[in-house]
Amino acid sequence: MMDFLPNADELRIQGLARSYARGPLAERAAAHDAGAFPTASVLGLAGFGLMGIKSPVALGGLGGTNVAYVLAIREVAQVCASTAVTMAVTNMVGDMLLQFGTAAQQERWLRPLLTGAFTAGAFALTEPSAGSDAASLGTKAVLSDDGNTYALTGTKMWITSGDVAGVILVMAKTDADAGARGISAFLVDPASAGFSVGRHEQKMGLKGSSTVSLTFDGVKVPVEDRLGPEGIGFRIAMTALDGGRCGIGAQALGIAQASLDAVLASMAARKRDDRALGTDQAAAFRIADMATRMEAAWLMVLRASALKDAGQRMSREAAMAKVFATEAAGFVTKTAMGLASAADLRTDSPIGRAYRDARVARIYEGTSEVQRIVIARELVRAS
Ligand SMILES: Cc1cc2nc3c(=O)[nH]c(=O)nc-3n(C[C@H](O)[C@H](O)[C@H](O)COP(=O)(O)OP(=O)(O)OC[C@H]3O[C@@H](n4cnc5c(N)ncnc54)[C@H](O)[C@@H]3O)c2cc1C
Repeated sequence: MMDFLPNADELRIQGLARSYARGPLAERAAAHDAGAFPTASVLGLAGFGLMGIKSPVALGGLGGTNVAYVLAIREVAQVCASTAVTMAVTNMVGDMLLQFGTAAQQERWLRPLLTGAFTAGAFALTEPSAGSDAASLGTKAVLSDDGNTYALTGTKMWITSGDVAGVILVMAKTDADAGARGISAFLVDPASAGFSVGRHEQKMGLKGSSTVSLTFDGVKVPVEDRLGPEGIGFRIAMTALDGGRCGIGAQALGIAQASLDAVLASMAARKRDDRALGTDQAAAFRIADMATRMEAAWLMVLRASALKDAGQRMSREAAMAKVFATEAAGFVTKTAMGLASAADLRTDSPIGRAYRDARVARIYEGTSEVQRIVIARELVRAS
């Protein structure tokens, strides 16, 4: 029976994330929102094992569940969404190393990712002309005649932490004629010759998170750094996104919670005709709608995560949770702006910040339109 109550270990991991988020992270969140990359914050989280929540304790992780993971991401996002996305992508790269990597690859790449020896991990799928249609990506990986190394050539766009990562999981074509089945995954060392970081995107939100383009100009990757066999790179990417989408749903709901908390606090302090704002029915109904959508979305995120923990296919549930949670966060943060005061238009207002931070959750790890395509495809497949 699914009771939606986290177990003791999941609550312990949530508690670790909460105390770090409400302690050291809260002190730096405004600086991150002003554009400072959260190096100290992600290293602090790594110190508690939170950069590899599902990875084994022996490697520096927490050995936790997917439910623990979404609980922790929501806690961090409630305080700093930029740190949360850096944490989410690093956890996602770690999960793929855990699931598809050899013991040698885990030692070489996963351990430093978890212990903080690497600041972050990056996941490089999107390209200038391949976003939603990721299978059409054009980056090529050509195997040398002696079969020892691949040469990677191409450009990736919008890569979170691409300039600070210790390892970049890159999807590239090893067979240009095989469509999605011609894509393989590679673990790339950013110190490699031919690798360069391009433009840093200036975003409306998540300003502390780094988003860059990456160029691979004949970057040599040893065969032992290919993740899994040739041709399963797209499967690895889609597996990563199933879990990742629960994390983004949780991130969005953390942002929404921050917005709701701030608006409730600000309304109680503002009076009209001697009554606190929010006690009139028009505002009360909006508050109730915000909280109810968040609650429904959170149950969906928890359920998709619990299904993953049970080893069940959950692409449809993850896509439903992501689209509903991120759109709920859009509704909540927009409604909160409607209830806010002029002071909340200041760039350092938590309500304004949440409004700016929430929008991107409907874009990355698959747009809302793409989630709907996934949901319909899964329903048709099952019928
Ligand atoms: C801040 C940020 C961080 C990111 N981090 C990463 C990262 O770490 N790694 C990574 O690989 N990528 C990352 N991305 C890229 C992100 O995943 C893509 O932006 C996203 O997949 C959409 O691709 P696109 O921007 O090329 O839009 P497009 O695919 O060009 O889509 C444009 C619009 O058309 C719609 N659309 C597209 N196809 C269809 C269709 N078939 N039916 C209906 N509507 C459709 C889309 O929903 C969207 O509204 C990040 C993006 C942002 C903004």
